[in-house]
Amino acid sequence: MCGIVGYIGKRDCSDVLMDGLEKLEYRGYDSAGIAVFENGSIKTVKTRGKLACMKAKLDNEGKPLGCCGIGHTRWATHGEPSDINSHPHSNGRVTIVHNGIIENYAELKDFLKEKGYVFLSQTDSEVVACLLDYYYSERNPLKAITETVKELRGSFALGILFKDFPDRIYAVRKASPLIVGKGDGEFFIASDIPAFLKYTKEYILLDDDEIVCMENGKAQFFNVHGIEVSKEVHTAEWDVEQAQKQGFPHYMLKEIHEQPDVADKTLKAVIKNGVPDFSDAGFTDDIMRSIKKVFVVACGTSMHAGIIARYAVEKLARIPVTVETASEFRYMDPIVGKDDLVILISQSGETADTKAGLELAKEKGAKTLAIVNVKYSAIARAADMCINTLAGPEIAVASTKAYTVQIAVLYLIAFRMAFANGNITEEELKALTKEIEKAPDAIRNILKKEDECRFIASRLVNVEKLFFIGRGFDYALSLEGSLKLKEITYIHSDAYAAGELKHGTISLIEEGVPVITIATQESVLPKTISNMEEVKARGATVIALARKGTKFAENTVDILFEIDTELPDMLTPLATVCGLQLIAYYTSVLRGIDPDKPRNLAKSVTTE
Ligand code: GLU
Repeated sequence: MCGIVGYIGKRDCSDVLMDGLEKLEYRGYDSAGIAVFENGSIKTVKTRGKLACMKAKLDNEGKPLGCCGIGHTRWATHGEPSDINSHPHSNGRVTIVHNGIIENYAELKDFLKEKGYVFLSQTDSEVVACLLDYYYSERNPLKAITETVKELRGSFALGILFKDFPDRIYAVRKASPLIVGKGDGEFFIASDIPAFLKYTKEYILLDDDEIVCMENGKAQFFNVHGIEVSKEVHTAEWDVEQAQKQGFPHYMLKEIHEQPDVADKTLKAVIKNGVPDFSDAGFTDDIMRSIKKVFVVACGTSMHAGIIARYAVEKLARIPVTVETASEFRYMDPIVGKDDLVILISQSGETADTKAGLELAKEKGAKTLAIVNVKYSAIARAADMCINTLAGPEIAVASTKAYTVQIAVLYLIAFRMAFANGNITEEELKALTKEIEKAPDAIRNILKKEDECRFIASRLVNVEKLFFIGRGFDYALSLEGSLKLKEITYIHSDAYAAGELKHGTISLIEEGVPVITIATQESVLPKTISNMEEVKARGATVIALARKGTKFAENTVDILFEIDTELPDMLTPLATVCGLQLIAYYTSVLRGIDPDKPRNLAKSVTTE
């Protein structure tokens, strides 16, 4: 959550910071601010509201003029979004931006109050500024940081300016993301690569508790004991175009339309000689054979991808799979051990709960496999094995293309595990792989049906509640369709296994309540159709997503969205999901909501 940027070089710092914040606004957007060294003293401008409010303020008040500064776009955890709670925070000598949560802020605050510090904001972050000041007694910034870091519990990425050291930036992180961009005689700090991609592709990762000091075209790195360490420079594989809207009105729509290409790229990266091959990631047939049980640990959309994996792995590889929401898994003392595989799924690779789940799984001796979209992210680095999905930067808060490539990889894992376990032959493995290679075209076909999605959206725009139902793989997908819709339209939506509705929830069905039914699974189609009839009989408006040619009795379906695909039933979610995403997107737009920045949400949830 929240975006941090920092710049030191020869450019107009305010412009670079605002530019970077714009790229990171998906991480938080309830307030924003920057602090820049202007003629040797720090000038801070901050305000509640989206970045547009900040831009207006800078236009009115004049932007700070200088070449060194830090910026922040906030997703409030402690204290309401207000001007005073916006970052940067300062106590005169030290100015900071903070991403994360300081769990022991209350006790630190009491301690600092006793020492005479006065607090202006309700944030946990201001405590860090004061604690840095407290440990700055010897006017040694590095020492102040190392001492402070030792006291902080929780997660933090910090950009720090010391008033006495103009044109110098410090940064440090623990459990929250922060990277250092390296340009030609200039440096950047940022929570994510897109913030500086326009200026440089070279970046350096900061490990937990590592500190960077940037000044005069030079960056030095230190460990928590203040000892200098050397760091490797990486090159980003993403380019600037990928991180821009490219003529689409929203990132979300652009990302939906990227799906055929990113699915193709992701599949090609893993398929070798006509079969999925994960040996590059160390996920060999031998390891697969040693697995007795699979846990998928993830949050939100990634967790829904895990539910697809459950159906696929159990069906094909005949290994039991449990899908756990990471925030539960980490505290539930799960029965997991060395014969188990724990799959961690996270778009950003930084999701705090998923990372904690990974640490727990490792502690318990399980094998861990990460599926992430950001190379070298915290989860990618900490897991035993890692598969990178190739969705490219996903900026819209509501995940679309990342989900699709996650499930593509998970299907391939199911195929390979089935083969490794002797449940399918090499021929069958090849045949299944050929089927999934049709996914990009299947997605393209769905994306051609944008007008139909817009029409369905026009029927949903004024409803207060709706339901998604489906069976098997369609049920797993219903969960994601429902989440997508509620995330960005604010319409209350629930997803149910189609056969479960009558065990309670059917009492909520009344005249005109839309029930979006996914009905692509031949083996349970008559059952799903009966469930559609049941809700129809109670006045529901039935919107069905079904394979082209599916026969329904007259009047069962109010709106039919045909899925025209050659994909086998098991794989239809790869295509159907795109229809659900477009329906959610257009409903959001028709309701006057910005689908890229839905209220209360932010991407890359690095807080618990
Ligand atoms: N905990 C801090 C606050 O509420 C930082 C939140 C963030 O990461 O944006 O201000």
